[in-house]
Amino acid sequence: MAEEPQADCLFCKIVVGDVPATIVHETDTTLAFRDINPQAPTHVLVIPKEHHPDAAALAAAAPQLAADVLRAAGEVAEQENIAPPGGATVGYRIVFNTGAGAGQTVWHAHAHVLGGRGLNWPPG
Ligand code: 5GP
Ligand code: ZN
Repeated sequence: MAEEPQADCLFCKIVVGDVPATIVHETDTTLAFRDINPQAPTHVLVIPKEHHPDAAALAAAAPQLAADVLRAAGEVAEQENIAPPGGATVGYRIVFNTGAGAGQTVWHAHAHVLGGRGLNWPPG
C-alpha cells in the first residue's frame, strides 16, 4: 500500500525539495541523486518518490513502482556511461541494502547504482 510522505524521512524531504540534492534523473514516480558519501566514481541513489521503508516492502506493496526504480537505475547507468557494452571493465552494480545488519541507514527504499571502477565479487 502507498504510504504518505514521512515528516522524519530524509529522502521524503529530498523529494519535496526541503533537503538539497544533486539530482541526475527524474521520472513521474522516481528520483535519482548523487550519494553524499560516494563509494565509487559513480554512486547514485534511485528512489521511488512514494515512501516505502525498504526494497522488499516496495516490491510487495507496489511492484510496478519497484520496476520503475529498476528501469530508472538502468537509465542512470546509461547516462553515466557505465552500462555495457563497453568492454570487460564496464559494468555497474545495483544494491538494495535491506535491514540494519546489511548497512541500511535510511528507511526509504533506495537503489545504489555503483560503477566507474572495478567492483569485486563477492563484496566485502
Ligand atoms: P543505506 O546505508 O541506507 O543503504 O544508504 C543510504 C545512503 O544515503 C548512504 O550511502 C549515504 O551516504 C546516503 N546519504 C545519507 N544522507 C544523505 C544526504 O543528505 N544526501 C545524499 N545525497 N545522500 C545521503
Ligand atoms: Zn520517505
